[in-house]
Amino acid sequence: MSFADIIGQETALAALRAAVAHDNIPQAYLFLGPDGVGKMTAAVEFAKALNCAQREPGEGDACDACVNCTRIAADQHPDVQRIAPDGEQTKIWQFWTRSGHPPGALESINFAPVAAPRRVYLIERAETLNEEAANSILKALEEPPPYVHFVLCAPSQTAVLPTILSRCQLIRFRQVPQDRLADALTARKALDPEEARLLAAYAEGAPGRALRLAETPELRGQREALLDLAARIADSPVIAAFRLAEDLRAAAKTKAKKGEDDGEADRTARGDLTRALDVLMAWHRDLLALSLRGPDAPIVHTDQRAALLIAARRYAPDQIAQNVEALFAFRRHVERNANAQLATEVLMLRLVPRKTPAAPGADKAPPPVPKRS
Ligand SMILES: [Zn+2]
Repeated sequence: MSFADIIGQETALAALRAAVAHDNIPQAYLFLGPDGVGKMTAAVEFAKALNCAQREPGEGDACDACVNCTRIAADQHPDVQRIAPDGEQTKIWQFWTRSGHPPGALESINFAPVAAPRRVYLIERAETLNEEAANSILKALEEPPPYVHFVLCAPSQTAVLPTILSRCQLIRFRQVPQDRLADALTARKALDPEEARLLAAYAEGAPGRALRLAETPELRGQREALLDLAARIADSPVIAAFRLAEDLRAAAKTKAKKGEDDGEADRTARGDLTRALDVLMAWHRDLLALSLRGPDAPIVHTDQRAALLIAARRYAPDQIAQNVEALFAFRRHVERNANAQLATEVLMLRLVPRKTPAAPGADKAPPPVPKRS
């Protein structure tokens, strides 16, 4: 893998290549953009380009074959460290040694790199830095030794403390247009174009998510069950919410791998739910499109147009928008390790129609049976 293998992000990558080629490299970068668009992939490629043993002066790309490139790609290079959150937060002991914890990553900052020209620290989700941890790295960000570079990643400027923001050079990563992403999936994963189009839509312009979906063959079988569930939600009373939640957990489930411990099984279950959520989310975006733009609106599930039109009539228009909000909230809860049963139940309570709008014709209640006298 090199910069050239990253899907989209031409502007961001051109800036990084130019910095490397001209050896004019800011010591602290902040990569901004939604989850899954390629920030961390680009950060690793950047660390490789900085340290590649085969790169000629004036070039911006890594060779992807030398010992530095291969060790960085495998996350086994002594001079390139990745720091990911511990649970929900990135904490001070991950940077500076505290008793009862492994050595802090930044304890090495004042030692020259041992195997490569530069020492690089990649901070995966800077939005999770707690205040103590953020404050503890300010000086290192401001005046690092000349051989040190930082790359921090975060979803947006507002997610990061201003003190961090002001010390970093910003690089923006954007959602990749869906047809572009679909073409890349067709080429790389040998998917048929229709499958690639659906996955690109589910992934909302995030290649990382699209590739993970493409690598989950179970999803193809699950999709029908999930779309069927989505149609049933639109046709269900509130009282059915708990049953629907159970059905969602069952439909989302992929087989747990043999020998998975509880933690691993837990992560698998969360992954399953977020993938299932991608399908429900796309279905609701289709509903929204139909309710706002009429029955011929462009939608993702073109083969489901009739079922979607029926479902759209069951909701008041403002509830469809609220359902999309509820799905976003659910995604955040699952990512924060919320209890899956509770989270799915709350979700279904919000997704079922609150009241059936008085639709002309088809949806009228049957006339009362006349009483015999
Ligand atoms: Zn190399």
